Amino acid sequence: MPPAMSELRFNRVTGDWVVVATDRSVPPENFVRKAAPRESPSHVPDCPFCPGNESQNETVLAEPPGSNWEVRIVKSSFPALQPECEHELSGGLMNRRLKGFGYHEVVVETPLHNKFIWERSAGELRALLNAMKARYLAIAEDERVALVVLYKNHGSGAGSFVEHPHCQILATPVVPNDVRRRSVDALRFFDENGQCMFCAMIQQELADEQRIVHLTRNFVSFVPFAAVSPFHIWMMPLRHSPDFGWTMKGEIEDLAEHLRVLLRKISLGLNNPDFNFVIRSMVQRYSDLRSFHWYLSVVPRVSLPAGFELGSGMFINATLPEKSAEFLRKVKVDPAG
Ligand SMILES: [Zn+2]
Ligand SMILES: [Zn+2]
Repeated sequence: MPPAMSELRFNRVTGDWVVVATDRSVPPENFVRKAAPRESPSHVPDCPFCPGNESQNETVLAEPPGSNWEVRIVKSSFPALQPECEHELSGGLMNRRLKGFGYHEVVVETPLHNKFIWERSAGELRALLNAMKARYLAIAEDERVALVVLYKNHGSGAGSFVEHPHCQILATPVVPNDVRRRSVDALRFFDENGQCMFCAMIQQELADEQRIVHLTRNFVSFVPFAAVSPFHIWMMPLRHSPDFGWTMKGEIEDLAEHLRVLLRKISLGLNNPDFNFVIRSMVQRYSDLRSFHWYLSVVPRVSLPAGFELGSGMFINATLPEKSAEFLRKVKVDPAG
């Protein structure tokens, strides 16, 4: 048998090349998780996020306020960065340091210990997204903040060892190099083409159709042309918008329903895999409003980066992005309840 063929694909947004198996790519079905679903009780007495243990974490926002909260945002007990620190720069050119200023909060998605995000209704997800947006906007108002990252780690394969359903918010006083590089690339693309790079990518994906996973009034989810791993998904607002905080009421409603369908497809199709999602957005004072476009990236942890990825920063995707998209597109999801 001749050797399997592959190709290299370029991701315009990340600026990275990815090796994609083409000829004998691994069928998407091979990535379905084999383990039986996790069974958990709805309340765990010593869980810091279960009702009754509210005193263990300082509440930043509760919705509705009081003991009947449905969503609760708290200060992290193990904060990577803290707002109480002064934004103080010290050292010389070669030993520059900043005090550990920033924000690190945990979004407790539900009082129920075993109600995972893919089981939530669109209405519940809307309440969650509204709470996250409120904190995003409040933190972004702090002039010392350069970047706010909203993210979720689910399962040990995605870096989470706390079972209670939660997301996190981390804000940094500097723009990380990777974020800076991408925003400069986006500005350069705008200068050269007079168009937002992300809007151009959306147009291309809508025209190609084959990598689309889900499309609603305001959002599109697709497996990028040069996805770095199987089922890696980008969900973008169709309207040009640089900042997640700009998402309007009607758009949040659509986002909640869109996210419900997307997460359900992943959980039903791949049998509850570990996964991460992250909202990539720029706060306005650090952003070129014309050229940056916020989006949500979902990464099911169905394959692990190995030596080649660590050594080169280049990924090998064993499954064709078109096949990943087709697989998820076909997963039937119950209509909104
Ligand atoms: Zn709990
Ligand atoms: Zn755009």
